[in-house]
Order: sequence, then C-alpha cells, then structure tokens
Amino acid sequence: MNTPPTLIQITQQMVLGSFAFDMARYLVAASLVAGVVWLLRRTSWASRKIQRREANRADLVREVLAAVRTVVVYTAMSVPTVWAFRHGYLAEYRGALSPLAFAGYLTAILLAHDTWFYWTHRAMHTKPLYRAFHRFHHLTITPTAWTAYSFAIPEAAMMFLFMPVWFSLVATPVPVIFTFLAVMILRNAMGHAGLELHPRGWARHPLLRWISTTTHHDMHHGTSYNHNYGFYFTWWDKLMGTEHPDYVKTFDRVTTAARAVENLPAPAATSA
Ligand SMILES: [Zn+2]
Ligand SMILES: [Zn+2]
Repeated sequence: MNTPPTLIQITQQMVLGSFAFDMARYLVAASLVAGVVWLLRRTSWASRKIQRREANRADLVREVLAAVRTVVVYTAMSVPTVWAFRHGYLAEYRGALSPLAFAGYLTAILLAHDTWFYWTHRAMHTKPLYRAFHRFHHLTITPTAWTAYSFAIPEAAMMFLFMPVWFSLVATPVPVIFTFLAVMILRNAMGHAGLELHPRGWARHPLLRWISTTTHHDMHHGTSYNHNYGFYFTWWDKLMGTEHPDYVKTFDRVTTAARAVENLPAPAATSA
C-alpha cells in the first residue's frame, strides 16, 4: 500500500500549480466582467453605473496587489487541505453523479457558502475584528471587478476556511467543486462590477429578488457598511433585517433608462 505524501511532498507537487490556477481564476473573471462593463459604458447602459464616483488608479493598484497576496494565502492553505484529503481526514466523493445530484450538491454548497459569508462578514464588522480582518476590503469605496480579491491576510484566511469546513462535513464530487469555484469568482466579480448587470425588475421579482445584484453589494461599499452583508443571495439580509431600506429603490433607479438624463453633464449657463 502506498504511503500518503508528506506535507513537504504535497507542497513541492502542487504549490505552483495551485497558485497559477487561482491567479488565473481571478484574472479571467475580473477581466471578463471589467471588459463587459467597459463595453456597456459605451452604450445606453452607461446610466447603470451605480456610483457617480469613479474608482481611481490607486484603488486598482492596491486591489490587484492584494489579489496576489490573497492567492498566496489560498495556496498556502490549500496545501494542508490537500494533505488532509490524502490522509483520509477529509472525505472524497467517488461514484456516479446524475444531473439532479450535481444540481443538489451545487445548490447545497452555494447556500452553505452564502451562510458562511454572511455570518463571517457580520462578525468581521464587529469592533474586535474589523480593523485586522475587514478594514482593508473597505478601503474600496467604489468597487470594480478588480476588487474581488481585495482582502487583508486574516480575511483571505477566513474566506478560504469555508472549504475545509465544508469538506469535513460533505464528501463533494470534484466537478461540483470546480463549478462552485467558477460561480464564486464570477459572482464576486459581478458583485463588485460598479455597473448594474441584472435586468430591470430583478429586485422586485418574487423569485429573483432572493438572488443578490451588483447594486446590493455596491451599496455595502458606497452607501452603508451596516447593510447588505450577503453574497449570492439576499435572504439572510432580508431575514435578519440588514438589507438596506433603499436597496430596491436604488436598484430601480439604477436600472431605469430615464436615469441617463440625470447623468448628462449639467447644461452650460445660457448667455443672455
Ligand atoms: Zn466587497
Ligand atoms: Zn463589509
């Protein structure tokens, strides 16, 4: 019987690949969303820019450098996680996977991650944790897709920690894990896009309103730190009364075409 690899062997085998994979995950999702926003701002959807303020170069540099640091943290934490898998402390799912089971696993992991995110996010807004964990993320007032990985080291560790906790409870099929990682980074980049990407009426729709929007998280950065803590869904905020009272109104305003008029430069004073 093969002896499972040591921590050092796992580090040697996977550290570069893991770093490259996660860096690529961030760069692809952020470039994709930033590219879509850049194109849309050249159309009538320019009026969907949520804040009038523009993110500046200092924001971008800080966020991209922080993203590299976040990927280093994720890579460092993935080594003991893989070690735990190889040594049987975390269970791997093996076996057939029907489309229904795939959807079930994916829904479960998204709901669990949303719950993890909401409550750890609220905890990070408490006085003892805010400065060390979360203040860095809030240096960004006007998010863009590049904000997605803008975390201090303790916050990045808290974000990653969901994975080993989940895997210690649920043996998850590999295709589900990779789909989850893709959905997570894409929704993260979309939540920080700075321009509302969801269709008009979304925030009032009986079913869709439970899914978060760009406005929802943008307001957490630009309007009120004390509201809109959720990630994929709005249900924890609605349930706990932490959704911003003006969220739906703001979403409607941002997605209403008439707002384009508002955004036009002020007319020059007419000379008599
Ligand atoms: Zn954010
Ligand atoms: Zn926050």
